Parts: sequence; structure tokens; C-alpha cells
Amino acid sequence: MYDSIVIGGGPAGLTTALYLLRAGKSVLVLEKEAPGGQIAKSPRLENFPSIKAISGMDFSSELFDQVTDLGADFELENGVAIEKEGDVFKVKTDWGEHEGKTVVIATGCEHRRLGLPREEELTGHGISYCAVCDGAFYKDEDVLLIGDANTAIQYAISLSQTSRKVTVATLFDRFFADDILIKRMKSIPNIEYFHNLESKEFLGKDQIEGVRFEDTKTHEEKIIPCKGCFIAIGQVPCNEPFQDWVDLDKGFIVTDDSMRTKTPGIYAVGDCRVKKIRQVITATSDGAIAAIAIANELNAR
Ligand SMILES: Cc1cc2nc3c(=O)[nH]c(=O)nc-3n(C[C@H](O)[C@H](O)[C@H](O)COP(=O)(O)OP(=O)(O)OC[C@H]3O[C@@H](n4cnc5c(N)ncnc54)[C@H](O)[C@@H]3O)c2cc1C
Repeated sequence: MYDSIVIGGGPAGLTTALYLLRAGKSVLVLEKEAPGGQIAKSPRLENFPSIKAISGMDFSSELFDQVTDLGADFELENGVAIEKEGDVFKVKTDWGEHEGKTVVIATGCEHRRLGLPREEELTGHGISYCAVCDGAFYKDEDVLLIGDANTAIQYAISLSQTSRKVTVATLFDRFFADDILIKRMKSIPNIEYFHNLESKEFLGKDQIEGVRFEDTKTHEEKIIPCKGCFIAIGQVPCNEPFQDWVDLDKGFIVTDDSMRTKTPGIYAVGDCRVKKIRQVITATSDGAIAAIAIANELNAR
């Protein structure tokens, strides 16, 4: 039986584990894909204090090593349900079941889909949600980037280094990213951008060949041919498996200032909870706060 089971191995979950281990508690981290969470898919992290710039993958693997070196157990398993027997929580996974005195939900967010027909079918056949993971497949090809905020702009900049041309299509008449990123993107000659484009249809049979848009101002059709279509239009929470134990607001978990949910012994940290700013620094901060509250709770028992 673990002192705490952390569901999700992103920055929030791993930092919770880090602080719990340093407080002498035993921890199991469950991760359904790969450790590191969303930031592992970012080309560059440039706003974490004291680190000028680091790839998201390097940041994630440093944090993962730090936590496992301290003695965290780690399993590549998908947390599918929480049950409780007496004082013991049982976290059910796609592989089995683990027992803990407390549970921390650190499930972050997933990519938002455009919602067009055949999106699922063409994912992996030209459609991607991760430029870091799939950008290299489109070396010297033309790629399309749908999105208008920080992640989209970071992806466009990163893709411009390997692809022949990057076309950015946004739904509204402006970008919603940091000024520094927008300026950097606009200075890159092989990036072109168009505003006011609503995606209508993926073109191509087994492999994407382009996207058909409608101009929301003129209602004219515009087709942008591409070999790869990257979609970066935000994230959605994935907390359904735990909804019987926590209050949700638009899918995000409601907590107090100590990251406690409505169920004593269940905490939530990072992007999966209701909060204003979803960043690595706020995710890691949540993890530290939750771990100290959990250690105090366990010590008081
Ligand atoms: C491309 C990109 C670039 C970004 N750039 C920056 C940046 O420059 N600076 C910055 O501060 N922030 C950036 N962010 C945001 C930052 O990555 C997030 O705020 C941060 O990762 C949130 O951490 P988290 O641990 O709460 O969630 P996540 O990082 O989403 O991690 C959650 C983890 O939980 C796992 N998981 C989910 N459900 C389950 C389950 N049921 N069972 C087991 N595991 C599960 C997921 O696989 C994932 O690994 C970026 C995000 C993206 C996508």
C-alpha cells in the first residue's frame, strides 16, 4: 500500500511525487502514455525560472529522473476508476489495481479536436496534434498549422526549420499568443498566415492532401494543400473516470487552496483542475502545495 497514488506523470504529478518522497512518503505514479505530459511535446520551454531555454522533452526527462532516483514507483498504466474500502483507496487501471492511503489526480489535458469528419481516421495519416513528435516526417514538405495561440505559434516556428513552407490558418482575425512569439513567427520567411478561416473538410483519401476552408468574412472557399496538417486549438480535460469523487466545472476538478477535492484523501493538481493559468510553473506549484498538505494529513492520522 502506497502513501499516495498519483494518476498522471506530467509536471504536476511528478512534482507532487518529488515533494512527497522528500517528506518520506511512498509514491506510485501512474502514466498512461509517456512521462512528462504535455510539455514533453513542446519544442522549447522558455518561461521556467532559471532555465533560459530547454526542450520540453529534456525538461521532462530531467524531472522524471529526479523523481525515480528518489524512489518513486512508476507504472505505464491508465487510471480508469477510483474505489474506496474503509480508509483505503483502490485505483483501478487497464492492468490491475493499486492501493493507496491518498490519491492525487494529475491528469492534465488532451488535445482538442477540430471535430470534422474523418479527423480520427486521418490522424497519423497527415493529421497530427504534436509538431515535436511528428514534424520530422514532413521534412522539405508543405505543412499547414491550424491554431492561433502560443502552442500553435511555437509549432509553426519549429516546423519552419524543417518543412519547406508552413501555412498558418486561424479562425479569428488575430493571434492570441505572446507578442514575442508572434514577432518571431512573422520574421520567418517560409511562414505564411491567413486569418478568418473556418475549417470545413479534410481533403485526400487515405492520406491528407489539404484542407478546405471558408473565409468567415467573404464566405469564399479557400483550399490549402499540405502533406501534413497540425492542429493546435487548445486542450480539454479528461476527468470523467473520477467524476463520482470530485466536483467538476466544465470538466475541470474543483479544489480548495490546498488542492483538496470534495472527497477527503483525494487531491487534484495541475491543468486538470479549475484554475486561471495553465503553465508548467503553476502545475509544479500545485504539486508542491498538494504534497505538503498530504504529508501533513498522513502525519496527523
Ligand atoms: C505544445 C505545448 C507547449 C507548451 N509550452 C509551454 C511553455 O512554454 N511554458 C509553460 O509553462 N507551459 C507550456 N505548456 C503548458 C504545459 O505543458 C502544461 O501547463 C503542463 O504540462 C501541465 O502539467 P500537468 O502535469 O498538469 O498536465 P499534463 O502535462 O497534461 O500531464 C498529465 C499527464 O497525465 C497523463 N494522464 C492523463 N489521464 C491519465 C489517466 N487516466 N491515467 C494515467 N495517466 C493519465 C497524461 O498522459 C499526461 O502525461 C505547453 C503545452 C503544450 C501542449
